[in-house]
Amino acid sequence: MKSFWATFLSRKYSFLISDVLTRIPLDAPTEKKLCLTFDDGPTTEELPEILNILEAHEIKALFFLLGENAKKNPSLVKELIARNHIIGNHSYSHIDLWKSSAREGIRELNQGTKILEEISEAPLHWMRPPYGRMTPWLIKWARKKGQQIMLWDTMPPDFDSNSTPNLLHKCMTTGIRPGSIICLHDNPTASKVTPELLKRALPELINEGWTFEVPQNSL
Ligand SMILES: [Zn+2]
Repeated sequence: MKSFWATFLSRKYSFLISDVLTRIPLDAPTEKKLCLTFDDGPTTEELPEILNILEAHEIKALFFLLGENAKKNPSLVKELIARNHIIGNHSYSHIDLWKSSAREGIRELNQGTKILEEISEAPLHWMRPPYGRMTPWLIKWARKKGQQIMLWDTMPPDFDSNSTPNLLHKCMTTGIRPGSIICLHDNPTASKVTPELLKRALPELINEGWTFEVPQNSL
C-alpha cells in the first residue's frame, strides 16, 4: 500500500508530464546536440554581450524572459527575435509557484504571456516555471496555452556569486550528455561570469563536435 501512494501522484499525472522536456529529442541516442537556454532576462547588463558571443558561433538559443524585465527593455526582446533566437515565458516577476496559490500563479503566467506576445507580435511556444517548480495546474495551463514546458538537465551555477570560473566551466563541459538542455542566466549575478564562461566553453564544445539547436514545440 505504501508504494501505491509513493507513486500515486506521478502515475496520476504521468499523462500530463510526458510533454515536459528536460532534454531535447534526438534522432539517435549519441547525437551530439545541445540546447542553450538563458533565464530571467532581458537585462541591459548582460544580454547584448551574450548575443554577440552567440552570433560569433552561429548559435540559436532559447531565452525564458520575465514579463517585468521585458516591459523595461522591449527593444531587447525585439532584438532577440531579430537575431533569430526564441523567447519563452518565465512568469511576470519570478514568482515561486510552490509558495503561491494557483490563482496568483496563473495571473503571473498570463501577465508574462501578454507582455511578451504584445512585444513580439507572435504567440509564445515555450515556458519555464521559475526555479523549475512544477505543479499539476501549471501543466494543464501550459498545455491549454500551447506553451510547452522546458526544464533542463545541466545548470552551471552562474546565479551563485560564490561560483568560480573553473567550477562553471567544468559543469558546462563535463555535465552534458547528448540532448542536454543547459540552463544559464541573464541576470545581475550571472552578468559577471556567464559571458566569460561562454567565451571559454563554446569553442571547446564546438571543437568536440557538439551543435546547438532549439527544438520544435511538440504540443
Ligand atoms: Zn529564473
